[in-house]
Amino acid sequence: MARKVGKEYQMQPELRNGSSESGTPDPAEDSLFATLARVEHDLNDLIDALALLGVKRCSQCRKFFRCADPGALFDCGQLVCYGCLPDWWPSMSMRLGIADRERIEGKLASWLRKHHRAEVVKANSGGVPDSANAEFQIVAKCVECAGSGKLMEGERCRFCSGLGTVRIVVPK
Ligand SMILES: [Zn+2]
Ligand SMILES: [Zn+2]
Repeated sequence: MARKVGKEYQMQPELRNGSSESGTPDPAEDSLFATLARVEHDLNDLIDALALLGVKRCSQCRKFFRCADPGALFDCGQLVCYGCLPDWWPSMSMRLGIADRERIEGKLASWLRKHHRAEVVKANSGGVPDSANAEFQIVAKCVECAGSGKLMEGERCRFCSGLGTVRIVVPK
């Protein structure tokens, strides 16, 4: 076994010398890289130009959307289109710290209510619209009691039934 390994080691330098990548750059390959770099640069310029014209890109599906439609892309530093939200949010929220998650979750909740007819539903209620009739839903901190479940007088928050969280539901 040991001899076999030794033989393989000996063969490697021969192979390397035999091939064309022995240090001298391949001019064809170099110009290909230069072309690719230029194309990439041009493409980025074009995407910047599109942003000036009011067209921005979803970071997930890479599709372009008009900024004039405020319900198309959700902006939280990262741009995500409405269609990508159901896949994006669960994995994103897991990676965030509590403070960041609550901040983006609140922003997302009000964006969904403003642009996608989302309704606030008590987290434990099977009320209308229930999960089966929801196109998309998230669980968010109750804004009425700031997540404490209690109102100022110490009584149970009636907006979340004291749970501190509500469901933000976009009906189908
Ligand atoms: Zn998308
Ligand atoms: Zn509440």
